[in-house]
Amino acid sequence: MSTLPPPEEAAGQRSTEHTAAVPPPYPPPPPPVAPAQNATVDTRNERLDDGINRCPRCGATDIQLRPSAGMLVCLFCRHEWAEARLDESVTTSGDLASLRGTIIGSGAADISADANAVITLKCGGCGAEVIVNTAEQMGARCHWCRHVLTVNEQIPNGAVPDAVLPFTVTHDQAVAKIAEFAAKRRTFADRTFVREFTPENVVGVYMPYMVVDANVSADVAGFGEIETRRFTRGSGDNKETFYDADVYSVDRHVDFTADDLTIEASSERANMNAAVNTNNIINTILPFDTENAVKWNASYLTGFTSEKRDQDVAHTTPVLEHQLLSIARAQVVASIAPYDRGVRWEQERLQVHGTRWLAMCLPVWLYSYYHEKNGEGMVHYIAVNGRTAEVMGSVPVSKARLLAASLTAGTVLETLVVAFLAVS
Ligand SMILES: [Zn+2]
Ligand SMILES: [Zn+2]
Repeated sequence: MSTLPPPEEAAGQRSTEHTAAVPPPYPPPPPPVAPAQNATVDTRNERLDDGINRCPRCGATDIQLRPSAGMLVCLFCRHEWAEARLDESVTTSGDLASLRGTIIGSGAADISADANAVITLKCGGCGAEVIVNTAEQMGARCHWCRHVLTVNEQIPNGAVPDAVLPFTVTHDQAVAKIAEFAAKRRTFADRTFVREFTPENVVGVYMPYMVVDANVSADVAGFGEIETRRFTRGSGDNKETFYDADVYSVDRHVDFTADDLTIEASSERANMNAAVNTNNIINTILPFDTENAVKWNASYLTGFTSEKRDQDVAHTTPVLEHQLLSIARAQVVASIAPYDRGVRWEQERLQVHGTRWLAMCLPVWLYSYYHEKNGEGMVHYIAVNGRTAEVMGSVPVSKARLLAASLTAGTVLETLVVAFLAVS
C-alpha cells in the first residue's frame, strides 16, 4: 500500500469553483512479459467412478451426508467418513503473490456446447441403463436392483465441480432460522404470505460458484480536496455558506492478493432482475468457509437438489475484475483520509498478474414464495447459509398495513417502516 505523499498543489487551486483538469489517461497496461501460462489443476477424485460407489466398510450404496456431523454416512452400517479437503489433496495453495497466468481447476473447465446435461449410467450391479439429468440431481437409484448410482466424472457439462462444501446446518435448524426471520417481519407482511407460510418446505440446494484467488496491481487517480476556509455571506434566509478548498491530484498504486472470492456461476442466479426475483438475497449470506471444501463425491448431494454451472471463466471474469477494483478502492481509503472533502476517483486501472479458478458447489437452504399482486408475479426467497446459518430474505409487504401504521403512529414508526423497506 502506498503512503500519503506530501500534497502537491494542482493548477487552479484555492478557489470555490473547481475547474481542475482531467488527469491524463492511463496508458494501456503493458503486454505481459511472457505470455500468460494457462495451467490446469487436476481435481478429479480418482477413487470414484460413475456408477456404484460403495461404503468403504460394508459395501452398501445407500450413502448420504449427515449434516449435523458434516460427514458421509452409510445408511446400512452407520459408518461415517469424509472426503479429503481439496486444499490438502491437490496443490491449490502456495504463495498467492507469486501467482501468474490463469490456472483453472479441471472441474472449472469451459463447458462444451455439445456436452449433454443428461447422462446415462450403466448400473454395475445389474447392467441396466439409468438416466440422470445432471441439471437437477447427481445420482439416481437403479429401479431394477436398487443400487444407488452417482455421477463423479468431470465431463465438460459443468455438472461436476472441483469441490463441494457439505451442509452442516440441518433442515431443522434452517426451518427455525426462516421462521424466526419471518416472525420479525410479520406485522407488515402480506396476509396471504403469512397464511401460506410453511418453512418446513425449505429445500437444500447446492449452488454453483467460482472460487477465485488473484494476484493483482491496481492504480486509481482523481482529485482530492482539503478545506482551507469556510465562511457565510448574507443573513437570515439568504445566508449562504462558502468553502475554500485546495484541490490536489491524487493517485495511488496498490499491489494485493485476494483469496477465495466467490462468484456465481449460474446465469439464472446471476440474473439480478429485481422486478421478477430476489436472487440478490443469496449474495447477502456470503461468505462461505470455502477453505473447508472437500473433493467431489456425489453422495454429498443425495437428498439435496443442485444447480449446474453454466458460466465459464470468461463469463465470470468481468465480475471478478469489478470485485478486485472495489478491494483496491477500499485499500487506499486510509491513505486518503487527509482529504477531508473527499476524493473523486476519475480513473482506475487493474493489472491481473495471476488468477486461480476452482468450481465449487456451495450449500444454501432456500425457502421460496411466489407472490402475485395486481397481475405481477415476484419470487421471494429466504436463504440460509448451509454452513454459518446466516439468514437473509425478502417478504412480500402489505402496503395497506404499512400505510395504516404510519398514519396512526407518526414519524417514529415511519422511520421504522423505511428501515423495514430497506431490508425487505
Ligand atoms: Zn456401510
Ligand atoms: Zn441395477
